[in-house]
Parts: sequence; structure tokens; C-alpha cells
Amino acid sequence: MGLLEMEGLTKRFSGLTAVDDVDLTVERGETKAIIGPNGAGKSTTINLITGLLEPTAGHVYYDPPDEAAADIHELRTISDEERSADQQQRLDELRSEYSITGLEPHEVVQTGISKSFQTASIFPGMTARENVQMAALATEHGSFKLNFLRRQSSFDAVDEIATEMLEAVDLLRDAGEEAASLPYGDKRRLEIAIALASEPDLLFMDEPTAGMSPEETQATVDLVERLQQELGLTIVLVEHDMEIIFSIADSIAVLNRGAIIADGTPDEVEGDTDVQEAYLGG
Ligand code: ADP
Ligand code: MG
Repeated sequence: MGLLEMEGLTKRFSGLTAVDDVDLTVERGETKAIIGPNGAGKSTTINLITGLLEPTAGHVYYDPPDEAAADIHELRTISDEERSADQQQRLDELRSEYSITGLEPHEVVQTGISKSFQTASIFPGMTARENVQMAALATEHGSFKLNFLRRQSSFDAVDEIATEMLEAVDLLRDAGEEAASLPYGDKRRLEIAIALASEPDLLFMDEPTAGMSPEETQATVDLVERLQQELGLTIVLVEHDMEIIFSIADSIAVLNRGAIIADGTPDEVEGDTDVQEAYLGG
């Protein structure tokens, strides 16, 4: 059953509906790709889940037990008007127990969800190792509390996480380098290590290979596969390169004008006529 469940997730910006009544499940352990044309609402969907934006309507549930997830699946197919009082009561119960809707970004991180930001999260004057340490420290304590740096036992734990995550992204050799001096592809890998410092179960990556050379792209693809296999991460990624998507995604959701027009295995999505018309160019 799903690790993450969206129910009627909606975001309107004044006149524009950027995300339109999205029902979507992310299964535990899978790599799920979200694809769709520019402006389809992919980044907005991720921002609604990670707390950067507040939904206009709808809910996001995190890690519900199987029975609760099954109820969410059933109840989200019934419109507000058609729901019985019992069904509404059950939905209210599910929302109060498993909803992460509208939490602040730092609260979402504490639940086990992380997002790799594009260069925005790096402190350029610090080393790669210090960057990951800072991120580990920030999650552990909810905010930067520098006096923890003086407490050796806590710092050892933070440093251990930094080592593990730098190793996971194959940056351990360059741990002592100033972040600003790293090549572009290594910077993007450092961002992933920073995102991993909170030890998430679920990692969002929004266009992780954007701007990369073919070699850097291949290294990132290998990394995503390793993270899923070795750390057991559930990964949701937005990606434009169809070859990459079809090689690493377990499932693909297609967004068009804010709405999900297909969701399934790569084979199912590739054969979908709506998708071919809307996106793959017939
Ligand atoms: P994608 O990531 O699929 O390219 P986005 O989620 O970034 O698309 O954007 C979806 C739509 O919402 C676009 O039309 C975009 O212009 C609009 N949009 C995104 N963020 C904002 C915002 N903060 N304010 C107003 N409109 C926005
Ligand atoms: Mg985007």
C-alpha cells in the first residue's frame, strides 16, 4: 500500500488551477516519475507535499497503515456531495491521524520526507562535509542550534551521517573540498547528500539531471538506482528525458494542465492514447 497518498490535491493561483484534484499513490520502495509538459503542475505538486506551498483544497497522507490506505483509495473516488455521514466521519478520522497537509517544510522533513533542492541549499564557503553536517544537525534539532556543535556525542552522530551520505552519493573523496569549488555535477550530488542528511524514507527530486553533461546524467541515474536499492528509499522524480524515465521508473504519472491523465507502469503509460495525444506528440 501507499507510503504517500494524495486526495483531491488542488492548487489555484488567482485565476489559474496549477494542480487540479489530484489523486495519486506513491508506493513504498518504488521510484515514481512524474512527467508532463512545461507548466503541467509537476513542481507545484511537489511543493504542496513538501510544505513550500499550501494546497487550496485536498489532502496528503503519509505512511498510513494498509487498512487506512485502502479506505483512502475508496473514499477519494466519492465526491464530497455523495459521501455518507459515516464515510465523511471516516475521512475526517484519516485526515486527523495521517494527514501532513499544510505542515511547514521543517515539519514535513521531520516526518521522513526530503527534497533535493537545486543549489539553493548549499553553503558555498563550507566544505562538502560541513554542508551535510549542517543539514543533519538542522533536522535533528528542527533548527540550527550551534551549541550542539560543542556537544561531542551529538556531533559524532552528525558526522557519521555526513560520512554515510557523502559515501552514498560518491563524494566522500571530496568531502574536504569547499562546496563552491566542486564541478557542477558534484554540486548537484552534494545537494542530494544534503537532502539525505535528514535520513528520509521518501526523496523528491525535481529535474535532477537538468543542465548535466551526458556523463553526469549517467552518474545521477546510477545514483538514483543505488539509493533505491541500497538505502531502500522511495523516490519521486520529475524528469524530462524519456530514456532515463523508462530505464529507472517503476511507475509513471502523467500530468497535463494540473490533472493526472495516466498513472501506471512504463509500458501502460507508453501505450496510453491520451498520453500520446497530450504529451508524446501522437
Ligand atoms: P511544471 O513544474 O510542471 O513545469 P509548475 O508546477 O511549475 O509546472 O507550474 C504550473 C503552473 O502554475 C504554471 O502555469 C505556472 O506558471 C503556475 N505557477 C507556478 N507557481 C506559481 C506561483 N507561485 N504563482 C503563480 N503561478 C504559478
Ligand atoms: Mg517544474
